[in-house]
Amino acid sequence: MESKKKMIPHAQLFYGPIGSEKLKIALAYIQFIFCLNKKEDDSCGQCSNCKKNELLIHPDVHFIFPVTTQKNITKPISLDYINDWKKEVLKFKKLDINSWTNLISKGKKNLVIYVNEIYDLEKKINLKSYQGDYKVFLIWEADKLNLEASNKMLKSLEEPPEKTIFILISNDNNKFIPTIQSRLIPLKFYNEKSGTSKIFIENGDKFLDFFVQWVRICFQLNQKKRIEDLILKVDEFAEMNRTEQKEFLIFSIDCFRKSFLYGYGISKYLDINISHENFSVKNFSPFIHKDNIFKIIQEMNDVIYNISRNANTKLLFLDLSFNISKQISKNIQ
Ligand SMILES: [Zn+2]
Repeated sequence: MESKKKMIPHAQLFYGPIGSEKLKIALAYIQFIFCLNKKEDDSCGQCSNCKKNELLIHPDVHFIFPVTTQKNITKPISLDYINDWKKEVLKFKKLDINSWTNLISKGKKNLVIYVNEIYDLEKKINLKSYQGDYKVFLIWEADKLNLEASNKMLKSLEEPPEKTIFILISNDNNKFIPTIQSRLIPLKFYNEKSGTSKIFIENGDKFLDFFVQWVRICFQLNQKKRIEDLILKVDEFAEMNRTEQKEFLIFSIDCFRKSFLYGYGISKYLDINISHENFSVKNFSPFIHKDNIFKIIQEMNDVIYNISRNANTKLLFLDLSFNISKQISKNIQ
């Protein structure tokens, strides 16, 4: 169980509006991956790898970001601008595309991640890592990949060599070609100032109770008594209106994702805040791993889509419960 949990997923998307801390948290996550002296859920901040990552100079961490042509740079890649980029990021651990555009093109040009970048990336992928361990590619403002670059990149995302990790950062999760999008495990960030979405604050407690009870039932569906309990839950679900049903499912996806990401050195930054007497992210996290998170998110999203199409919500939620039960049981051996 433990070994599965510790296998880091190879392609993740951190997305959220300008002002959210997605870059800062991605960097903390990378630092945790390489830390030589990990604490339970945080990097040590002291070891040589932590020091290198704090300065953005770890040799196995590569940064890719949108760039622009200049008189003397006709086929630009990130390497041409890397010092400027690092300097900006080190200042605040955050950077937005507008200030970056202003800085390197005086705001005039649309910045792009070109296909040449991906050729460079492929070269780096094929080289041995310096430390013989992970190689990480952080792609900032990844939605600026142009179509050619996206298609080229797809191959690396589909068949990455072992211990190669991609972390894509974007304001939006809907700007990628579908074949790329389907390879990414998304994690949504919120703007610090606006806090989490209002929906969750209004219905948070109600949804959390429902989620905790529901997941417990899903765990125990091999018991006859629990099937009866599930039927009651299904009725309860059907009593919500369709908007609430969708909100509940989005809330649940969030809980699954957070449980998945627990243990990667970033939970202190996330507003996990799943405090419930019968549930903890820590205890739940071993059951959510790279072999089931995709499937869980996909199945939940399918149900959200079908609710919008006026399908029978009782049947949808019943099927979903059996599917989730199957997925989270995969790890109990
Ligand atoms: Zn360390």
